Amino acid sequence: MIHIENMTKIYRMGKVEVRALDGVSIDIEEGEFVAITGPSGSGKSTFMHLLGCLDTPTSGTYILNGSEVSKLRQDKLAEIRNKEIGFVFQEFNLLPRLTALENVELPLIYRGMPVHERRQRAMDALEKVGLANRLNHRPTEMSGGQQQRVAIARALVGDPNIILADEPTGNLDSRSAHEVMDMLKDLNSAGRTVILITHDMSIASEAKRIVRILDGRILSDEVVS
Ligand code: ADP
Ligand code: MG
Repeated sequence: MIHIENMTKIYRMGKVEVRALDGVSIDIEEGEFVAITGPSGSGKSTFMHLLGCLDTPTSGTYILNGSEVSKLRQDKLAEIRNKEIGFVFQEFNLLPRLTALENVELPLIYRGMPVHERRQRAMDALEKVGLANRLNHRPTEMSGGQQQRVAIARALVGDPNIILADEPTGNLDSRSAHEVMDMLKDLNSAGRTVILITHDMSIASEAKRIVRILDGRILSDEVVS
């Protein structure tokens, strides 16, 4: 599903160059649950942006589901991103004035889906994350864990091949963090590819495969039981 070869990302700020990713190669198959972990500044967010088609590498190859995405222009990249990837962020990124249902519907509105169909899909997604009884609540009326579950429903509603979660438990207490991890595991058991970015080794250890990065390079890549 994902084939990455010798990918490098250099940020240039005036005369200063930062090599945030330095020759990364990795393959990720459909149905995997991979954690990418490393300390602050190791290149996790940069990797996540490239994996998620939010940015393109300075050099190297990225093939996603058979398409070479490393050299695409922004508009085409956005098209692939919207089709293939559901994002979950540390900050939830829900719109505060919209209800849970409206937040989850939003990506489908951008796709131009008729109201009847998108409402049904959003309700199904919220039911999957155990929030069928919170459809009309606004983010401020929900706990952090519930808000993150709304965000997972929003990531799921477009039926992406890949769920890409960047520090999804970073703002949660340990009980809610476990709930969110259980949810990601359930989605993975149902066949969805999950890529989890985290600096927290105890969270990473719940994945089936752990990739450790340091200074923009892969240090180790191991499959756990
Ligand atoms: P992590 O998410 O693991 O903390 P990042 O990918 O954010 O790591 O950062 C990796 C390196 O790239 C760091 O040295 C960081 O300062 C640098 N960096 C990240 N984003 C930018 C940017 N937009 N411009 C310049 N340097 C950046
Ligand atoms: Mg980061």
